[in-house]
This record gives sequence, C-alpha cells and structure tokens, in this order.
Amino acid sequence: MRERIQLLPPEEAKKIAAGEVIDRPSALVREFIDNAIDAQSSLIEVNIENGGIRKIEVIDDGAGMDYEDLSICWQTHATSKIRSMQDLNVADTLGFRGEALAAAAMVSRLEILSSPDGREAWRLQIGPGDHAQPRIEQTRRIKGTSVRALDIFDAIPVRKRFLKRDWSEAHQCRLMFLDKALAFPRIGFRFSQDGKLKTYLPPTSSRKERFSAALLSRREDYFLYEINAAGDGFTVAAVLGGPELSRSDRRHQYLFTNGRRIQDFSLLQAMEYGVQGWFPNNTHPIGAIYIDINPAKADFNIHPAKREVRFADSGAIHHAITQTIRAFVRHKNLAPEQPPPPANFVFEEPKQPKAPSQIPIEKEEKKTSFLAEAALEDSSKEQTEAGLKYTGRAFDLFILVEKDARLFLIDQHAAHERLLYDEFLTKPIPQQDLLVSIPFSTESDAEDQFLENRREELARLGIRIQGRNGSWRIDALPESWRLGDAETVREILNLKNANENIAEHWAATLSCHNAIKDGEYLDEAAALRLAKAVLELPAPRCPHGRPLWFEIRREDLFKAVKRT
Ligand code: ADP
Ligand code: MG
Repeated sequence: MRERIQLLPPEEAKKIAAGEVIDRPSALVREFIDNAIDAQSSLIEVNIENGGIRKIEVIDDGAGMDYEDLSICWQTHATSKIRSMQDLNVADTLGFRGEALAAAAMVSRLEILSSPDGREAWRLQIGPGDHAQPRIEQTRRIKGTSVRALDIFDAIPVRKRFLKRDWSEAHQCRLMFLDKALAFPRIGFRFSQDGKLKTYLPPTSSRKERFSAALLSRREDYFLYEINAAGDGFTVAAVLGGPELSRSDRRHQYLFTNGRRIQDFSLLQAMEYGVQGWFPNNTHPIGAIYIDINPAKADFNIHPAKREVRFADSGAIHHAITQTIRAFVRHKNLAPEQPPPPANFVFEEPKQPKAPSQIPIEKEEKKTSFLAEAALEDSSKEQTEAGLKYTGRAFDLFILVEKDARLFLIDQHAAHERLLYDEFLTKPIPQQDLLVSIPFSTESDAEDQFLENRREELARLGIRIQGRNGSWRIDALPESWRLGDAETVREILNLKNANENIAEHWAATLSCHNAIKDGEYLDEAAALRLAKAVLELPAPRCPHGRPLWFEIRREDLFKAVKRT
C-alpha cells in the first residue's frame, strides 16, 4: 500500500538533522536511487551525461505517484515515509526527510514522470526560480517513475565552479551507483554514461554474487566467501575476499547498515581483526559487511547524508563481526570446491580437512637438527605411510615432494613458521628469566595503559614486565627469544596495535623468528617430516596469510609441455 505524501509538521521538521547537501551530481544520483529503492522497484536504471552535470536520469518500475502526490512531492519536508520523528523507530526506508526532490529542484531543472498503475501518468516540470508554479501535464508511462535533473548548478555558478571534470564527476556517480547496487542485490541495476551502457547487474538473491558482478572479474569470484551470523536484535553478513584478493589499501571495503553505506572505521577494523593471521602483513581484505538492525536500536538521523549511524550497542556488533569472521577463518578448509578456470599451472589447496598436526618446537639452535633427529627413526615408514616422495630442493628455499600425481613446492620457512605458530598458540610458552633485565621507557599514556592492563596476559605469553608511569623493565622473555633489546621493546609495544589478538600476534612474531630460514639446509628425512605435517593442515597458510606451497598437477605439467 502506497502512503500519501504529506508535509511534515514544522515542529517535526525541526528535529531533522541538517538538510540534505547537494554538492555534486553524485549526491543527486544517491537521492534518486534511494527514492527508487524506497518505491520497491525491481529494476533501476541510471543514465548520466557529462558527468551528471548535463543530465542525471533515474528510471524505476516502482510504486509511482498519482497527480496529487506528484504535485506536492517537490516541496521541502514533503514525504510519504514518516509522519513524525516517532516513526523513525520503525522506518525501513532510506529517505525520510522529504528534502531531496526539493533540493534537486533548487539546483537543477527537475522533471518527473510517474504513474502509479500504468493507466494515468503525469509529468511535472519545475526549475530553479519557478518554485511557486510547477507545470504538471498528462503523459503516458508504464507504472513507475523517471526522475531527471538537467543542467545542474546552472543557477548556482559558485557551486558549478567547484565541480571537477566530467570524467571525475562521472566516476563519483558510478561509485555511488555501486554503493546502492551492492546494498540491494535483489534489485537489477543498469548504469549508462553518455549513451553507453557501462554496467548491468542482474537481480540476485546472493550478496556474494552481486559483489563479484559489481567489482570483480569472473576468475576472482573464486576467492570470495559469504559468512552469516545473528546477534541480539541484529544480523551480520559478510562477503569477504580471501588473501588472493588482498590490497594494500582499504578500497573495496564496504559497510552497510539497513541498506545504507556508512562510514565507521572501527567496524571495518573489526573485520580486519577477524582475518588476522590469514592475510599477509600490511594488506587488507576486500569485502562488504551488512548489518541489519532493528531501527529502534540505531539512529540514522545524525548525519545529513546518513553516512553515520549511532548504535545502541556498538560493542556487540563489533564483537559479532570479529568473532564470526575469525571463526570462519579458523575452521575453514581453504580447499576450493572446484579449481579456478585453468591456467597451465593450478594452485590448489588440499581437499580433505584433517586435524592440524604439529611437530614439537625446539629452541633456535636446535631447530634444524631437531627436524632431522626427530625424523630419523621413522622417515622411510613415513614415506610409504603418507604416500610422500622427496624429490629434492629448489632455490635454497623450497622442498619438493611428490604425492598422488602432484608435485608440491613447499616454502620451508613459511611451513615451519606455521607449525610453530600453532604450537605457540596452543601450548604454554616456556619463559626464561633474564640475567640482566631490559629497562625501557614508554612514550605515551596509551602505552603505559596497555602495559598495565595487559600485564598478566603478557606474562602468559612469556613476557614479564614491571614498572609504571613511563618507566619499565623486562624481567623475563620466552626461552627461544633472541632479538636485541631495542627490537625486543619495539616488538612488545607493537602488540598494543593487535588489541584483542595479542596472543596471535605474539605467536606469529615468535614463530617467524624461530623458523628455519631460507637457505638453511634440511636433510631428506627432516624435509619429509615437515612436508607431511603441513600437507595435513586444514588451512595451509603461514601466520601472515601466505600460502605454504605451490602445487603442480602431473596432468597440468604434461599439458604444459604438450605431452599426452
Ligand atoms: P523522502 O525520500 O525523504 O521522503 P524526497 O524528497 O526524496 O523525500 O521524496 C519525496 C516523496 O516523493 C517521497 O516520500 C515519495 O513519496 C515520493 N517519491 C520520490 N521519488 C519517488 C519514486 N521514484 N517513486 C515513487 N515515489 C517517489
Ligand atoms: Mg528521498
């Protein structure tokens, strides 16, 4: 049922956050698409010309407007969506202030064609300067609405001067279009620029599918995952790219709340915590987090463009995002269901998840020989047991083993590092008192607070510290620790940035320092033992997220040299 458009009473209008700002064409794209979505459209088409400056047109097949609604819709605070601020507690629409069409009519020549049923249809024309008398005439149109804004800012030269070049404004419009399309996968979206169709996104029930259609190439699809969780009064869904799609910036990180893209650094950070250990250092995941929350528990009326939201319990949401993604990363078997489209060599991960197996850690001096010793007793047994065959070494770093018609090139450092990491995380870290403690000073209250609040946790990680107010000393460190004083202090203070994940961060640091290095020699038995252990891992990545090996199938190798 369509609600009628009415003017908000002045006392309600006053409670609304500062007015809509139409500073550039993309702001109109946003408002017009929002209206089309609110009208329950199933297909939305956006056409822009000259970066939207000459023309923005948004065509929908939604509820439409009749004569009465059309003749009032352009007035400030005219809305069919709420009657009072009270309604905001239940409103599930993107708009609610009744300001967008009014603002559009002030900055451009506005034309709206609309029909509520495909029988009666009307055209409204209104422009800057003739606010008092819009022209309305009968026309023909199928059910739905077309909104056109022409010659934006012609009447406001100051703003026009601040516009960027056409291509740059067009880019902004397209980004805005993508924000909306990502938020509403069930709606089909088309985007054309200067008469050319640029993007068509067919309707889909899958957020993952929409994300990939909007932003990725077909091949990349393969590394995209969808994760869902529910909390008290809200749900969280995440579309997440694997480390294969990681980036050095945070572009392509999206956060939506009830269909609106919002800016909230801490919630995106929650996603990053969740993937920690799965991604190479200093890289960021791409992905979209969708939070759907009871509108009574969130306030969208705090930012003119609704880009911010205040949650009644943001901690719970933060926690849900981190935990959900972390659990996914931990339990996920990274094995793909199907190999990606063929290249000559296919990088594949093991298909059968098994319980992680560990090899015992040893102190640094012994670590290489340990691998050799431990393997000695049962190494040819192992070869038949696991069906593994040692075939050699490459580039002073890779162990080569054959198994089931596949050749594995295993990164020995990363492999050992990963096994040590699991060990450090699951077993107590042996601690050693220092003969001479290491004094150090902190540089901020935040560092002091960190050391004070997390002292016990640090002790469990093998780090014993004492002190306060800027002056501290380290009394004990993990047995295997070998770094110099300055570096040690830096690594410990660095843990502050790991927030809730200092155990994982520390385990990653320890295992990196303790693992065999590139160029260190492993004999056949030790190499086999290492290979066997890592090939059984369910998620074979190093603590920084890199894969542990590259795999070549016999078949692919044969194909590559055209042997049949
Ligand atoms: P708001 O979206 O905040 O209500 P707008 O100024 O954007 O305010 O729109 C005013 C009213 O015009 C809306 O409440 C809606 O009833 C009507 N309207 C605008 N665009 C459309 C559309 N594409 N289809 C149907 N109705 C629309
Ligand atoms: Mg609106």
